[in-house]
Amino acid sequence: MKDSLAYNFIIKDPLYKKIDISSISNSDIVDILFYQGSIDSFCPECNDLSIFTINHDFQKEQHMINLQMSISSPKNHKSSKLFEYSEIYTLEFHCSRNKLHHLNIIYKVEKQTISKIGQSPSLFELQRGEFKKYKFILGNSYNDLYNAVMFYSSHFGVASFAHLRRIVENYFLEKAYQKCKDLSDWDDRKYKESRFSEKLSLLKDELPETLVENQRLYSIISKGIHELNEDECLLYFSAVKECIFLSLDDIIEQNNRKKAKENIKSELSRIDNKINNK
Ligand SMILES: [Zn+2]
Repeated sequence: MKDSLAYNFIIKDPLYKKIDISSISNSDIVDILFYQGSIDSFCPECNDLSIFTINHDFQKEQHMINLQMSISSPKNHKSSKLFEYSEIYTLEFHCSRNKLHHLNIIYKVEKQTISKIGQSPSLFELQRGEFKKYKFILGNSYNDLYNAVMFYSSHFGVASFAHLRRIVENYFLEKAYQKCKDLSDWDDRKYKESRFSEKLSLLKDELPETLVENQRLYSIISKGIHELNEDECLLYFSAVKECIFLSLDDIIEQNNRKKAKENIKSELSRIDNKINNK
């Protein structure tokens, strides 16, 4: 199911992230290892959005039933030896547009944890489809988005987060600064001498609402990179990235509306000219 723990683990979480089996329910364990639903994702081979459906396999279904029985049995509590020894699980999906386009996931279960150790196409290739539409509006900052997602898909927290922060600094903050710098009460010297977090606060009213309305996220974005550790960066990456995407979607929407209004205006003036020249 979309946005379930299993769904996010398959399609949104980076490689090598570990899930502690004791911290999740029995049904989540089965759902991750034997996912039965479909996945909405960009298909790099179709170069378009698609739906990936799980390939059914009788042997695997039998394995799932055996595991369900084992974990629900009182003598086999989750904290027992059941998930102690190394075992590999695989999921194979096919693209609904073309059965030859596959999505493969490999998990390793060991020492009471589940981690995703392989994925093809890579998380980066799948997410690239989601963000390539921002290339035109982001300009130079598009490279930061590209690098942020690339580092995140390889589980590099601080590096990926640093690139997201650069988008806030070089794109959103700069856009807001250009709006304010010529105002009569603007103190440019104070701004230029300020640190990143102070600049954010000075321009808060001009920044996209999605970036500043959530206090928790706002404080994470404001922190210096050296104040954050790998785990914190990985934890907040998706939420900050989604906020950036939402803000960019708003800008695209505003641009489209502006363009549509201009088209209507020029169409009306074309009609006016035609009538007047009759
Ligand atoms: Zn496809």
